[in-house]
Amino acid sequence: MQSDVLIIGGGPAGLAFARALNGSGLSVTLLERQPLAAIAEPADDGREIALTHRSMAILSELGAWERIAEEDKAPLRAARVLNGQSPFALSFDTGGTGADALGRLVSNHRIRAALYACVAQQPGVEIRSDAEVASVRTGREGVEAVLADGTRLRAKLLVGADSRFSWVRDKLGIAAEIQRIGRSMLVARVEHARPHDSVATEWFDHHQTIAMLPLNGDRSSAVVTLPSAQIERLAAIEEGAFAAELERRYRGRLGAMRLEGGRHVYPLAMTWSRHFAATRAALIGDAAVGMHPVTAHGFNLGLSGQQLLADAVRAAARSRRDIGSDTVLRRYERAHRRAAWPLYAGTNALVRLYTDETLPGRAARHMVLRLGQRLPMVRSGVREMLMAR
Ligand SMILES: Cc1cc2nc3c(=O)[nH]c(=O)nc-3n(C[C@H](O)[C@H](O)[C@H](O)COP(=O)(O)OP(=O)(O)OC[C@H]3O[C@@H](n4cnc5c(N)ncnc54)[C@H](O)[C@@H]3O)c2cc1C
Repeated sequence: MQSDVLIIGGGPAGLAFARALNGSGLSVTLLERQPLAAIAEPADDGREIALTHRSMAILSELGAWERIAEEDKAPLRAARVLNGQSPFALSFDTGGTGADALGRLVSNHRIRAALYACVAQQPGVEIRSDAEVASVRTGREGVEAVLADGTRLRAKLLVGADSRFSWVRDKLGIAAEIQRIGRSMLVARVEHARPHDSVATEWFDHHQTIAMLPLNGDRSSAVVTLPSAQIERLAAIEEGAFAAELERRYRGRLGAMRLEGGRHVYPLAMTWSRHFAATRAALIGDAAVGMHPVTAHGFNLGLSGQQLLADAVRAAARSRRDIGSDTVLRRYERAHRRAAWPLYAGTNALVRLYTDETLPGRAARHMVLRLGQRLPMVRSGVREMLMAR
């Protein structure tokens, strides 16, 4: 079977890329190892994605934004960062920009479902679920993937969208920097007695980090980061005990809490691929850059990255050039690495700063917060990044 583009991985990045090729005249085969139901109606994975204005604009262009119900989009009007016991908060808001919010929080499974719904009815796209890729080979002449059932698929371009421990990346022989930090994140939706006023809080306390992301109503997504063994214990305790412990850990700031739905655990690992492109192949989404979720960049970055690749591929197709040529792929690689590296390095520096429990480490983060508040360019820089279209 021959198509123009072969995508491995039907997560949000792979689906967005398939959708971004709509109307280009290119045929696309998308391989996903999960069953169809799991990508058409994905289960709630607890992740609330803080979308920037740019991401909302891209999702809108793709036709996915309008497919998400308004009540599933929660405005993020302001954000504050707290350190330890200090009452001081570094705050970000829309600051006279005229916008109603810094961004919107939307559940990951809603974004996936909306993207799938767009791609499912797109002419020229074939989605193969339950796909087990046995081997993949790329060369100057083309790409060939063989499925476990023996089916051979050929294409001009291979796109790896198969997450941070990417199988495609390994098969392409691309090395990656992988940092496992021995910590995990637990996410859970909670109802609380006091209102959050649509303000997100990131609290870097001693020996724990807790983020509260405001959802519609008196509800938040609690995101707790701790050493992995402690997270396992928190995930296993009885619901009422969990809510009480969260309330205590959060110093009762939002009043009494009640758990709503399940708890989801994510062991943390950051990954940076040494290359985002190889002969007739490119990596997108977490397969290219696996961010620590603390700065909420992962999907936003994946979405803008896939758009860079789609633009380069579409331009080549329009002018009847080879869509898998080095020129096309290097253009994507250069642009995406330039955008991604400062965010990746900056986020990792923040993680190091906020997990350093030595006295000088604690003093340093206090200083960084104070400095951030005093230097207007820091706050306006963050605001511009969130709000740029
Ligand atoms: C707790 C948490 C909170 C987050 N919050 C935010 C946030 O606020 N803002 C933000 O921008 N980002 C956030 N992120 C990051 C965001 O969720 C990811 O960046 C995003 O999901 C990556 O999408 P992806 O499509 O690259 O990978 P994935 O979502 O991992 O999808 C990969 C897909 O590939 C499939 N696959 C894997 N291997 C194969 C194979 N060999 N063959 C076929 N299919 C395969 C998988 O089944 C899966 O469907 C958060 C992440 C976490 C864990």
